[in-house]
Amino acid sequence: MKKANGHEIIQLFEKFAPKSLAMEGDKIGLQIGRLNQKVERVMIALDVLDSVIDEAIKKKVQLIIAHHPPIFRPLKNVITDTVQGQIIEKLLKHDIAVYAAHTNLDVAKGGVNDWLAEALGLEDAEVLVPTFDTKLKKLVVFVPVSHADELRHALGNAGAGFIGSYSHCSFTANGTGRFLPGEDTNPFIGKPGEPETVEEVRIETIVPEPILKKVITAMIKAHPYEEVAYDVYPLENKGEVLGLGRIGKIPEMTLEEFAKKVKVALEVDRVRVVGDMKARVKKAAVLGGDGNKYYSHAKFKGADVYVTGDIYYHTAHDAMMDGLNMIDPGHNVEKVMKKGLTKTLQTLCQEAGYEVEIFPSQIHTDPFQFI
Ligand SMILES: [Zn+2]
Repeated sequence: MKKANGHEIIQLFEKFAPKSLAMEGDKIGLQIGRLNQKVERVMIALDVLDSVIDEAIKKKVQLIIAHHPPIFRPLKNVITDTVQGQIIEKLLKHDIAVYAAHTNLDVAKGGVNDWLAEALGLEDAEVLVPTFDTKLKKLVVFVPVSHADELRHALGNAGAGFIGSYSHCSFTANGTGRFLPGEDTNPFIGKPGEPETVEEVRIETIVPEPILKKVITAMIKAHPYEEVAYDVYPLENKGEVLGLGRIGKIPEMTLEEFAKKVKVALEVDRVRVVGDMKARVKKAAVLGGDGNKYYSHAKFKGADVYVTGDIYYHTAHDAMMDGLNMIDPGHNVEKVMKKGLTKTLQTLCQEAGYEVEIFPSQIHTDPFQFI
């Protein structure tokens, strides 16, 4: 195990939830402090409130990864007799960095919306609002027959050849490779200055663009040749679709029964319900945070009920008239990210051999009380 700095930890995080997944204009990334220091303790928080910072100080945290960016509107000044100024001052004084992981964490595969879908028991969950289409590339490489297996293995292990739930997919054809090694070369097969003919195979596979570099590096490492002959082609095929919200099947029940389940599953004291309590529901959509503007996606994709926070009065009326049932458990249910991200980041750091303690904030940040 080795010590890690903030940059190294964030690099791991961004492999899981790349910044490129964030919605346009979102304020993500490092917001306060620095990453170029040793990080021994990371706290995962939903909101960066004063009480959360006190907790971080007490627990000697160097880095907070928060879902809601503490700086959302551009700052004009940092005046320390305002609440926001005091928060920034306190964090800087204690050398605590804040990194915001907002809509990129919502969209990420295995992120906020998947944690919510899992909590609600959605089966065969799919993306509700597609926002990101992973571009695909075709990678073709030529290799002597003797090294074909090893190379196919290396390509697959690096993430190439994923088609649906199948991994390590490739196609291989036999052929003849010809080359003339230059005078100052050190060829794996043949001699400098002598034309060579080799029985080679052409291996072709498919690679999502974000991991192309990694796959090419692994391919070159596993290839016996000094100069590897390979081609990368752009593809028009649709890659994996990522996005906000999830939609999936639930065991059939009444809206009232499902609302009660939501309350327990998302650990809230109450939910607001729009629709006929006796209506039967068997397909549910969920979207963490404020999902008002996506209610038509839920309707269009055939959801019987849409679970999201911050439902407006008028959205509720529109949904009622559209015959879409809604359940609002509040915005704070995104607190699932505290446990979810703690677990994910712990696994990533463990795999990387980093000695770092990662834990969720224990502060309850829902501003609402009910009487
Ligand atoms: Zn939110």
